[in-house]
Amino acid sequence: MTKSAVASSDAAQANHDLAQQLRDSRLKNGLRHFIGGEWVDGQAGKTFDTHSPVDNTFLAKVAEGDASDIDRAAGAAHEAFQTWREVSGAERRKILHRVADLIEKRSQEIAVLESTDTGQAIRFMKSAAARGAENFRFYADRAPAAQDGQSLPAPGFINYSIRQPIGPVGVITPWNTPFMLSTWKIAPALAAGCTVVHKPAEWSPVSATLLAEIMDEAGLPKGVHNLVHGFGESAGKSLTEHPLIKAIAFVGETTTGSHIMRQGADTLKRVHFELGGKNPVVVFDDADLDKALDAVVFMIYSLNGERCTSSSRVLIQDGIYDEFTRKIAERAANIRVGDPLDPATEIGPLVHPRHFEKVMSYFDKAKEEGATIAEGGVRVGESGNFVRPTLFTGARNDMQIAQEEIFGPVLTAIPFKDEADALALANDVKYGLAGYLWTNDVTRAHRFAHGLEAGMIWVNSENVRWLPTPFGGVKNSGIGRDGGDYSFEFYMETKNIAISLGTHKTARLGVGQAPAVGKKEAGE
Ligand code: NAD
Repeated sequence: MTKSAVASSDAAQANHDLAQQLRDSRLKNGLRHFIGGEWVDGQAGKTFDTHSPVDNTFLAKVAEGDASDIDRAAGAAHEAFQTWREVSGAERRKILHRVADLIEKRSQEIAVLESTDTGQAIRFMKSAAARGAENFRFYADRAPAAQDGQSLPAPGFINYSIRQPIGPVGVITPWNTPFMLSTWKIAPALAAGCTVVHKPAEWSPVSATLLAEIMDEAGLPKGVHNLVHGFGESAGKSLTEHPLIKAIAFVGETTTGSHIMRQGADTLKRVHFELGGKNPVVVFDDADLDKALDAVVFMIYSLNGERCTSSSRVLIQDGIYDEFTRKIAERAANIRVGDPLDPATEIGPLVHPRHFEKVMSYFDKAKEEGATIAEGGVRVGESGNFVRPTLFTGARNDMQIAQEEIFGPVLTAIPFKDEADALALANDVKYGLAGYLWTNDVTRAHRFAHGLEAGMIWVNSENVRWLPTPFGGVKNSGIGRDGGDYSFEFYMETKNIAISLGTHKTARLGVGQAPAVGKKEAGE
């Protein structure tokens, strides 16, 4: 499947024209690091290639950062922190709004580049770019109050707390929706008064370069935001170990989170982890089944299924199991897989051949484990990383297809008897990021939501994000929360200041007659 062969409409063709123009202009000369306000090559001069998921052909050369580049970037972030921390909240607000304005202005370019680099369908990347701007606006408006603390009067004292930025922070992001996720971390860090060193994923580095350029254009002072490309085990690792970096905000796989925790131990890094998921969507027979069907299909097959909050396990009450899975299969069979730059496309290619192989391997696993492939389970075309949206039925919760994060457009359906059975199945995984619940019994909805082991639960809805609410997971899905004021808790230190009203009595030492024992005798 080549891009020209599948450009099916004028809009698709216009996206391809823009993509070609951007490849010829911005990608042709390669992607460089952005350190201390300058675009620079790696100190060792090494590069790596990034490829198009459509046909795995060369897309761009990327500077390959190592420990020395991270050291330079951390030094620049440390220096810039000394002044950025003093910049008023009102001024930070202004700059971050300018970043949002520029993201909006360049949203088409961002969406096209993101689609080209990740394989995500353009229809979703347009809203992801808009969400990137929204993230900056949201935290821009909160910058002036980020330092606010509490007044905690006590007998004889006025206590008050203030918040101060923790220092330069490292932001490490994954490849699935890199632009949006990066803004989600970087915007609150800057609003808090921190400076940043960003290490984006090596499989989709393009949009991070664009974001750095936009922030520079918006007037962010030199060194406040730094970007170092490279691999996790070298550039990423060095960032987590660097003594000038005070905290690591990480989004990625659970096992990488464990590595980062170990790597950051010597320098006592504060960590914030948004990790993997195997999120259940539980459908009771009293639910609005038409709406539930829409949401189930959307939450697993949108964004190529490469989405941390995707509902990759559907638990269905046994009386409606056959009918409901039949309908999912019907919808899945109708999903348009193809050219990511075509607005009609619903699923694009998976990001990388290695990830494609991983997802494909679960098709064999499902057969070996005795599940049924009710739909999909095959690649699409002879080249590129395209797979058919897939549904496994007849699965048990102890199978690998029900326990492991596949991170592709692959759904595992499991029947349940009653509420207790559903809750036991839903909780019987190592992950706990999100959960979705479909029922019209309001009492059961509350009871079930309280029992479900997940950081975020939606009742009778797909994932609809409201930025002030806490975002994050429990169990192996993460540590800490983003969103609203929760992000500032991570990027800032809380300091308490106790002022005496002069009325309390301080215990007095050294004013009594000292006992003779232990006293030095004269002449001793
Ligand atoms: P990954 O863990 O392989 O890589 C993520 C980032 O970590 C990359 O930038 C990588 O270079 C870096 N990295 C790898 N090893 C490192 C190390 N030892 N030290 C420092 N950095 C290192 O994840 P991925 O494959 O890019 O992304 C997919 C994963 O991300 C999935 O598990 C998905 O669930 C998760 N994710 C979670 C959320 C969430 O909010 N919970 C959101 C999106 C993605």
